[in-house]
Amino acid sequence: MHPLIRINDPDLKNDVLSGESTRTAESTKRRQRWLESSEYTYPILIINSDVEVARLPVATRTITRSRFAAVTHLLAASVAALCLLAPATTTLTAARATLPILVYHQIRTAGAEPPDGDTAISLARFTEEMQWLHDAGYTPLSMAEVVGFMQGTLTPAGKPVAIHVDDGWKSGLATVPILDRFGFKASFWIIAGTGISWPHVDWPEVDALAANPRIDIFSHTMTHPWKPGETLVDWVSNRTAGRSADDAARELADSKRILEARLHRPVPYLAWPSGFYNDQLIAIAQRAGYTALLTIDDGVNGAGGDLLRIHRTMVHGGCSLAVFKQILNDGLFRTCAPPLSGSPASSDAR
Ligand SMILES: [Zn+2]
Repeated sequence: MHPLIRINDPDLKNDVLSGESTRTAESTKRRQRWLESSEYTYPILIINSDVEVARLPVATRTITRSRFAAVTHLLAASVAALCLLAPATTTLTAARATLPILVYHQIRTAGAEPPDGDTAISLARFTEEMQWLHDAGYTPLSMAEVVGFMQGTLTPAGKPVAIHVDDGWKSGLATVPILDRFGFKASFWIIAGTGISWPHVDWPEVDALAANPRIDIFSHTMTHPWKPGETLVDWVSNRTAGRSADDAARELADSKRILEARLHRPVPYLAWPSGFYNDQLIAIAQRAGYTALLTIDDGVNGAGGDLLRIHRTMVHGGCSLAVFKQILNDGLFRTCAPPLSGSPASSDAR
């Protein structure tokens, strides 16, 4: 499967189509902002209204932000290739599974939080999305149900979806009253070391989440290594000074042990920080006792899917409800440009 990424940005589209020759300073700045504010494990690949580019093959996903400039040349080549292979693009969505897992991070309520983006969404928009899921007959699944669905032992009553809240940001707690309003289940992924205390949740708040019968709590490691050159993949590859595979193993084992001791319940699932993982890390996670692993590789999940590489889709806070509906259909990540500073907030095109 070769998911597509959608970017509503005319300048960026022009850049891609022209091989960057028309790139403006502003579009460069915006592109950098996207990269810096996001947690991509793969290069951003494109699109806008009438141009679609397949994501690079899985093998290239470890390309990092610092290498983005090189990637843009591949992008231009991909556009050209797809123009020649138009029928191939129509097959990309043919073999579609049916369980999208939506990932949220920070919730913007008072304007002090980060602007809408890959990891921030306004409470109003989050509420609107949950209302739509409710009205459209979606049934959010717990992680045990996600696993059952993928193992083929669970047939959900309604349209399946799962709602995940990553990192344990304190602002993420604003989702709870909304989830409760609709009786929605959700899974929170807690950073059990550095993710406890401001601006993250504290332990009593974790306890309160755990006391909610519809909320799951699972591991998001101890310290959430994510910076380029300092990810868990870098650790196990000996590319980070002072960090090794043993340290990665401790990140996974300690967070599991601490959460289990605090919550008095099993913590069999792990979400990779910023989506960085490789086969070696999967083996380490299995040795630590995890039975399902969550990525931010977008796409939907289906019966028979790989529990060690569960797809999840980040929900960009700048996208409209129309784009959200598309995400529910195909599980593909879209990023929607935030309004430029000084421009009107209303932008129906988004
Ligand atoms: Zn995270």
